[in-house]
Amino acid sequence: MASSVDCDGFTLDEYIVAQIIDGKAIAAEVRADVRSDVDAWTARGHRPPFLSVVLVGEDPASASYVRGKTSAAAEAGIGSETLRYDASISQNELLEILQELNANDNVDGILVQLPLPSQIDEAAIIRAIDPDKDVDGFHPVNAGRLLLGMQGFAPATPSGIVELLRRSGVETSGANAVIVGRSNIVGKPLANLLMQKGLDATVTVCHSRTKNLSEITRQADILVAAIGVPQFIKGDMVKEGAAVIDVGVNRVDDASRERGYRLVGDVEFEAAAKVARWITPVPGGVGPMTIAMLMKNTLQAAIQNAGRR
Ligand code: NDP
Repeated sequence: MASSVDCDGFTLDEYIVAQIIDGKAIAAEVRADVRSDVDAWTARGHRPPFLSVVLVGEDPASASYVRGKTSAAAEAGIGSETLRYDASISQNELLEILQELNANDNVDGILVQLPLPSQIDEAAIIRAIDPDKDVDGFHPVNAGRLLLGMQGFAPATPSGIVELLRRSGVETSGANAVIVGRSNIVGKPLANLLMQKGLDATVTVCHSRTKNLSEITRQADILVAAIGVPQFIKGDMVKEGAAVIDVGVNRVDDASRERGYRLVGDVEFEAAAKVARWITPVPGGVGPMTIAMLMKNTLQAAIQNAGRR
């Protein structure tokens, strides 16, 4: 299908074969669905879902992510609070705060914005969150539940990718899905999701030690790049007709931009878009889905935790 996209000043109509998966539009659909489910939930006499966000330090990027999350919550009818702490907070103080949030029946979801200052062991903090309030899906219990196909919270980026595929009509059943990247927040949970009964993909996970990477990626009906290396996946690494999901968000210098840089993904977009059937842009592909899926997880937490009380 011919599409039109303005990419760095060039209109690519004549080159692009792939359908551009519009992550912004799909994320807006997901957020609207969450809003109507929240309305239905509160109409049955329940209080609105509530998300507590813990923000440590003054990192502007973290503060901006948190603002994005709390404003999406407000838009979805979800209550939220941002608990701000100085970068000098000790691990024990943070653990005590989490214990209080775990015990508070008015809090459905807890999210600790990462990264944390170096004196704090992130893994210990994640383990201290009640798995049933762990809406980021980073707790080892939720990782285990995902692996076993049990109900729990899947991390937002991989579940956002599944939602993008689903809503774009990409068939996962029997598809060869190749994921480049094996991180705990993207590659591994995505592999677990795509191989679940119901999604039924045949999954290969690649990493920096993978041999003959291009041969493997060229077999992919669904190719996911979660590497963190700008434009690593070239056009000749993509199978004709594939769905290409670009998770990467990389800054590259660009003197023509006022801010001095532009964002690019892990895929060479123009070249891949000539052979793929579907492709996600960067920005505007996977990124917007992350917050939308976080809202979905928070509603799920509210419903499950109400059932337990
Ligand atoms: P990590 O750095 O944790 O993982 C990168 C993975 O890529 C590793 O498994 C690494 O292999 C693999 N890799 C690195 N170099 C190569 C190579 N030459 N060949 C094959 N594999 C390689 O990254 P994340 O998963 O956290 O993030 C990946 C990208 O996605 C980043 O750009 C990040 O900014 C972005 N991101 C975007 C999100 C969004 O919402 N859009 C959310 C999360 C991440 P090895 O394990 O062997 O080192």
